[in-house]
Parts: sequence; structure tokens; C-alpha cells
Amino acid sequence: MAYDPLISHGVSPSLPTAKSYWQATHKPVMLPPLSKKMSSDYVIIGGGYTGLSAAITLAEAGQHVTLLDANSLGFGCAGRNGGFILSGSGRLSLSAIEDKWGHAIAKGMQGEFEGAVNLLKQRITDFAMHVDLVEGPYLKLAHTPKQADMLCASAKHLASRFNVPSTPLSQKNITTRFGIKGAYGGVELKGACLNPLKLVSEYARIAKERGAALFYDSPAVDIEKHKKGYVVTTPSGSVSAKHMLIATNAYTPKRFHKSVDNKQFPVQSSIFVTAPLSNEQRTASGLTAPMSFMDTRMMKYYYRVLPDGRLLFGGRGAVTGKDSDNASQKQRLYRAMVKSFPALSGIAMDYFWSGWVSVSLDSMPRIFVDNMMTGNNASQTGYAMGYCGSGVSFAAFAGHRLAQQMMGNGDVDLSLPLYRSPLKTYPFAKARRLALRGLYQWAKVAER
Ligand SMILES: Cc1cc2nc3c(=O)[nH]c(=O)nc-3n(C[C@H](O)[C@H](O)[C@H](O)COP(=O)(O)OP(=O)(O)OC[C@H]3O[C@@H](n4cnc5c(N)ncnc54)[C@H](O)[C@@H]3O)c2cc1C
Repeated sequence: MAYDPLISHGVSPSLPTAKSYWQATHKPVMLPPLSKKMSSDYVIIGGGYTGLSAAITLAEAGQHVTLLDANSLGFGCAGRNGGFILSGSGRLSLSAIEDKWGHAIAKGMQGEFEGAVNLLKQRITDFAMHVDLVEGPYLKLAHTPKQADMLCASAKHLASRFNVPSTPLSQKNITTRFGIKGAYGGVELKGACLNPLKLVSEYARIAKERGAALFYDSPAVDIEKHKKGYVVTTPSGSVSAKHMLIATNAYTPKRFHKSVDNKQFPVQSSIFVTAPLSNEQRTASGLTAPMSFMDTRMMKYYYRVLPDGRLLFGGRGAVTGKDSDNASQKQRLYRAMVKSFPALSGIAMDYFWSGWVSVSLDSMPRIFVDNMMTGNNASQTGYAMGYCGSGVSFAAFAGHRLAQQMMGNGDVDLSLPLYRSPLKTYPFAKARRLALRGLYQWAKVAER
């Protein structure tokens, strides 16, 4: 049975990893489970990008760090995503942030989003990370004429107010270049993609080299608060630490810790990867080189050409974990691909998998340190999550910022909405799922 964060009792080490293209082409190292009592300055729960990146920053600053993950390396989103390196996180565009909080805050947020991409690229270079980084065009495609106008207006605004360059694309231009049907216009930006599972492997290598103690197949099953800190218990050991970082994102079990319970909504996204495209299919679809796409639907489709000439195509998944592998889910996504690329009709679907993305109630991720619970200078709990499906660069940056904040680093601009308040609390889980079903029904009609 697939993991479902709103129903299951937590990630267990026995859950299988995703049957993904990434897992089929790269085997992450096996890291040992915790089998003793340990003490540490910091304990990190969750070993995806957020947790490992926090471990790197803390270990580089000479802190003693222990990281626990419930399953194997890359079990969560970090091993399941599409590998798009996006400048941004959450669901609010820079223009929406500007409308809500003003230009100065929006510029500050832009600095953090661009900082995330820069940190990733810097680490790739500095640590000689092998992550199959490919650069190529990134196209945003409008699914209605109205969205085409809005996309164009927004591109102009981003160029003048935020210095983000892009090239407008007409409907004709898109059709002749890619044979794509159903796109009414778009914009082309600089894009980059990588292999997400190799990325998490590389983060683990670096965290280990910096001296962090990493334990996988070690779910945190109990968290106790003591005068001097926390004791986090796993099935075969425990870690006592002054400070605790929660980096479990959408895979956070229900009723886990009061700082994160009901603070994010896990929603599934699914991906399939085709067989390698033939030369005829490549020419007819215009998919001749590494490039990536995202559309303007609320339930977005995203796709990219992989370095070995396959097409990776993703979109929303099933509402519940038990339905994630249903044939109807695969067919729905496949139909959407054929609608865009009629030349690919009949191509084999070689891999299909799903993962949980963490959606925050107000579409803004949070990197938050809870001093209120414990008092200043005492032990602290911090968390970073709610990236709304945009975390390949940002989750690692969030882990880095969280570590900086917990060490008292004054460089973080705490006035930004990312930092200044905790995640908002959601209504009951059942109500969330009911609302999601309603939204998907609406999208079926409105976003054909
Ligand atoms: C299908 C899909 C496609 C996506 N595509 C993109 C993309 O192209 N670009 C992009 O920017 N973002 C994308 N994302 C989002 C991105 O993958 C995430 O934002 C990012 O991976 C979050 O990293 P993380 O480390 O916070 O969480 P995760 O990688 O999910 O790590 C959380 C970890 O917590 C562990 N855990 C849970 N409970 C416990 C416990 N009790 N004890 C110990 N450990 C525990 C889990 O085992 C897991 O390994 C996609 C997501 C999905 C699902």
C-alpha cells in the first residue's frame, strides 16, 4: 500500500521506493539505521533536500549534527520530482507578492528565490556534484487566449520591475517550433534541469564528508521535550539534542509534532516517462534538445526532454495514496500528453510514479523557528516546509536558512513573509480532501 500522510501511521522503512525512472537509472548508497543512544547539538528529522542541506550548513559551522530519515535516501519528494530548477517556491508569483506586501518585500523574496538557485549552482561547482545538470529553454505556455495575454503582461512587468528577461512566443511560433496543440501563446525563459535522485545522493555525500551523522530506515516515532532539549526515539535507538529541525515536508506523519500538525496539505503529483523518442517523433514534436515546459493551468502540466531523449510528463495525481497507481491516473496524464503532442500517440509509457507535495494554506512556504515554545537561548524547534511543489532549489536553501537562523545568524531578513510567521493551520483532513476532489472536478470542466 502506498504511503498516505493523512491516513498512514508514518513512513516505515519497509515501504518500497518509487518505481521511477530515477531509481531505475541510479542507485543511491544505503545508509545505516540508528542502533544506539546518541547525543548531538542538533537532531534533524527528514533526510531529503531540506534536512541534508541543513545538516551541511550546521556541520560546516562545526556543530554536531545527527539526521534521521524513516526510509532510504530519496524516498520522499527529493527522489521523485521532475528535476526542474525553478526560481521561486510556493504558489505566489513575484507580482502577487508585490500586490500583497509591496515592492520592497517582493524584491527581498526575489533575492531569496534567486539565492536558492545560486546556492544550488554554487554547490554543484564547489563540491563537484554529479547531477546531470542540463541548461536549455524553459517555456511557459498559456492554455487559453486570456492566459496568453496575462502571461505576456506579466512578462513585461517582471522585466521592468524585477529585471527578469524573457521572450514572448506567439501561438504560431509555438506550433511551428514544437507542433504543440492547445497553447495560445507563451514566454521563453532560461531553464535548467537535473537528476533529482543524484542530487539527494550528492547532498548526503557532502553532509557525511562534513561530519554529519546520517541514519536512514530510522523513523522518529516519539519526540519528548526535556529541560535541556529533545529526545527523539527510533525503533532501535534515540538521539538527545538541544535543538530539533523538522524537515519532513509533505511526508510528515499525522499527529507528529504540535509545531507542524495540520500546517500543510499533502497533495499528490504524478509523473510518467516515455520510451526514448524516435528521430521521426523528435522532429515531428520539435523535442530535439533538452528543454522544459510548464503550462498556466491551475492543475499544471509540466514536461521536459531527458538527456537520453525520453519525455518526462507530470501533472496532478490521485487524491488518496491508495489510488495513486490506478490505470485511470496514468491514462489521464497520457491523454494530456497526446493532446499536446499528437506525434507521440502510441509511444510506450516506461515508468510511472507519484509523490506528495506540501501545500501551505496561504501558498507561502515557511522557514520558522519556534522560540515561543521554549524561550530564547533555550532549545529550539524549527521547520521548513510548504514549498507547493517547487523545491528542487528552494528546499535546500530553506534548510540552509533554517540552520543559519537556529545558529543565530543575523544575515536572514526575518521581515520577509517566509520567516516572520508560522505556517497557518488547515481545517480537518477530511474537509481538505473533500475540497480537493471538488477542485479536481472543477478543473476537469474548466481546464480541459
Ligand atoms: C512528482 C513531483 C514532482 C516535482 N517536481 C518538481 C520540480 O520539477 N521542481 C521543483 O522545484 N520541485 C518539484 N517537486 C517538489 C520537490 O520535490 C520538493 O519540494 C522537495 O523535494 C522537498 O524536499 P524535502 O527535503 O523538504 O522533502 P522530502 O524530499 O519529501 O523529504 C522528507 C523526508 O522526510 C522523511 N520522513 C517523514 N517522516 C519521518 C519520520 N517520522 N522520521 C524520519 N524521517 C521522516 C521521509 O522519509 C522523506 O525522506 C516535485 C514534487 C513531486 C512529488
